[in-house]
Amino acid sequence: MERKVRVRFAPSPTGPLHIGGVRTALYNYLFARQHGGDMILRIEDTDSRRFVPGAEEYINEALAWLGIKIDEGVKEGGAYGPYKQSERRDIYREHVKMLLDAGKAYIAFDTPEELDKARAEVANFQYDASTRGSMRNSLSMPAEEVKALIDAGTPYVVRFKIEPGRDVTVNDLLRGNVTINSSILDDKVLYKSSDDLPTYHLANIVDDHLMEVTHVIRGEEWLPSAPLHVLLYEAFGWADTAPAFVHLPLLLKPDGKGKLSKRDGDRLGFPVFPLEWHDPKSGETSSGYRESGYLPQAVVNFLALLGWNPGDDTEMMSMDELIAKFSIDHCSRAGAKFAYEKGRWFNHEYLQLLPDAELAELFKPVMRAHGVDPEAFSDEYITRAVGMVKSRINFVADLWDHARFFFVAPDTYEEKSVKKRWNEDTPRIMGELQEQLRALPSLESKAAEETILKWITDNGYHMGNVMNAFRLAVVGECKGPHMFDITELLGLDETVARLAAAVERLG
Ligand code: GLU
Repeated sequence: MERKVRVRFAPSPTGPLHIGGVRTALYNYLFARQHGGDMILRIEDTDSRRFVPGAEEYINEALAWLGIKIDEGVKEGGAYGPYKQSERRDIYREHVKMLLDAGKAYIAFDTPEELDKARAEVANFQYDASTRGSMRNSLSMPAEEVKALIDAGTPYVVRFKIEPGRDVTVNDLLRGNVTINSSILDDKVLYKSSDDLPTYHLANIVDDHLMEVTHVIRGEEWLPSAPLHVLLYEAFGWADTAPAFVHLPLLLKPDGKGKLSKRDGDRLGFPVFPLEWHDPKSGETSSGYRESGYLPQAVVNFLALLGWNPGDDTEMMSMDELIAKFSIDHCSRAGAKFAYEKGRWFNHEYLQLLPDAELAELFKPVMRAHGVDPEAFSDEYITRAVGMVKSRINFVADLWDHARFFFVAPDTYEEKSVKKRWNEDTPRIMGELQEQLRALPSLESKAAEETILKWITDNGYHMGNVMNAFRLAVVGECKGPHMFDITELLGLDETVARLAAAVERLG
């Protein structure tokens, strides 16, 4: 019988979710939705030393911001909980016992010092079939001694007893069969009595089994753990229902040389985290895509294409389109260069798709930040202003540079253009221009343009000089949207006032 597709995203709350982790979550989500399956969010917090307060909330907030919806998890609940590993101790204890009883695992008492000593004495020491006989464990020691030590509360670990010389095959849907020899594996620690907690390996596979996970889609860095996981499924007798693996390629530095790091982001000016993160220990703040002005749909689209392609050159895809098109077959095995400029391009494109009124709402906080009260303008005014300049922006905040003159009259004028365009005739001509504008029945762009251009030509004035002086007076510099669109929105009084002010200031 076909099992229902169930995938999980299993982050450890050790800090902010890295952008690579976000991509893993996204691919899991796309895969689950496409197959009508379930998306689980499991918090893997068995390493208490690495726990960071706020990290779990951060993960929830980031996924929600991006529109990656969780079906089962700590917040969402579900029939397979608890979804936080630190709340599943009983389950792990029971499973450790199952392996011990079946002779597939054993108890070891070696202290850190004893392990160091072994490493110093034996070249390439590995705790395995060749060395375990000379270490202090339940295979090498009499049963009474083992029991006595445990009864006395001596700390111990439980190790997986790996049989050497066996071929172990990991079936990876992306990479095909990856086979290694079990002799290269060490007897991994599965449980530590000191904190009564399992290690990642045990907790991860017990949970994948109990939560009926069908596909483990995760980063390539976990590929080396996969053979061990295959052996654990076998040891528990779960091989038949073991999940299929997909190990996603690494995200690389923009130049492709090595793994993407936070430092690359700092150096080149792009975030590597979905949301801003305030490190509770160092007090350091790391920038996030959200706070840097990215739209979530742009980030999703950008990340989806870092390691996957739809088989053609389609670039713009909504979440629903990504769900429909996603396939493991089109994931790449090679690392994906983190082309952050492409992220900016996506943001630009998605901003163009937003209705102007929505963009205006997003712009209001930016106006406030620059000391302009949006309430002093009508929504229609702000909407038309942003609509005129949006093709020039990559981020909402960029709107300020391009649209500020709609809200604040210039008080200085770009010097280079003044030199070039403002000559001794200009004040007189700008005076005449004010009269011409006043005489118009309205400032409607097309009609105003026709009349004013005709007036310039009829008088034999220099078209470039007059129009640029006009623009300088109204905008403060020689760039911006179509001049008569600007004046239509500013209105007669404001336009004339700006012309008069420029004449007064520039003489
Ligand atoms: N807790 C692991 C992590 O932080 C999970 C790895 C996996 O998906 O198996 O990524």
